[in-house]
Amino acid sequence: MLKQIQMAVSLIYPPRCLGCGDLVDSDFGLCGSCWRETPFIGGTVCESCGVPLPGQADGFRLDCDDCMAHPRVWSQGRAALLYRDQARALVLALKHGDRGDIAKPAASWIMAIAKPLLENTPLIVPVPLHWTRLLRRRYNQSALLALQLAKQSQLQCCVDLLHRQKRTESLDGKTREQRFVALGDAVTFNLRHKARMQGRVILLVDDVMTSGATLTACADACLSGGAAEVRVVTLARVTKQ
Ligand SMILES: [Zn+2]
Ligand SMILES: [Zn+2]
Repeated sequence: MLKQIQMAVSLIYPPRCLGCGDLVDSDFGLCGSCWRETPFIGGTVCESCGVPLPGQADGFRLDCDDCMAHPRVWSQGRAALLYRDQARALVLALKHGDRGDIAKPAASWIMAIAKPLLENTPLIVPVPLHWTRLLRRRYNQSALLALQLAKQSQLQCCVDLLHRQKRTESLDGKTREQRFVALGDAVTFNLRHKARMQGRVILLVDDVMTSGATLTACADACLSGGAAEVRVVTLARVTKQ
C-alpha cells in the first residue's frame, strides 16, 4: 500500500534536481550537470575547519594555515561543500529562497563527511538567528539543517540552546578582526537548557563558515555554559581562493 502511495506521489511530483529543477532518477538528488558543478569536499581535510588539504593524511592531526594561525575553540570541524558555483546557489536558496527541501539532502552530505564528529552522542545545536531576522525570514536555515541531521543520525537536537542577544549588522565585507569584534558577546546560552549541556559534546550546525567568528561566539557560549567539547559542521566552507 505504502509503495502504491509513493508511486502515485512520484507520478504527481516526479523527483526534480535540487539545482536546476530538471527531472532526476531519485528524490533529493542533483542531475549530472549540477552534480559536476557542485564542489563536494573529499580526501584530506583540515581537522578544524574542513577545508581540503594537499597530500595524504598520515595519522597525525592536520590543520590548515588559517587554523594554525588562529587556533579554534572547537575540537573538530567539517564542511560538505566549497562555497562556490552550484554549492553557493544551493546555500543561498536554502537561506533566502524558501527552499527548505534542500535541508534533507544537505544533511546527508554533512553526515557523509562528518562521521567521526557524530561519535560520543553529541547534542546537535544550530547557530541561532536574531529574532528580528527570524521574523523576516520566517525560518532559520541552520535549524532546518540541524533537525535533519538529528533525524538522520538519530541524535538529539536542541534548537534553542543558544540565542542571539544582540543584533549584529551584516558581516559581509568586514575583515576577520571586525567580524570577531562584532560577534564577541552576541550569543548566549539558554538558562533553561543549561543542565542539558553539562559535560556534553555539542555539535554546532551552520550553513556557511567564513571566518568562523559566528561559530566561535556560539562555541564560547556552550563552553561557558558547561559543555565539555564543541565540534562544528557546516554545509559549506568559504575559502580564500
Ligand atoms: Zn540540475
Ligand atoms: Zn582549517
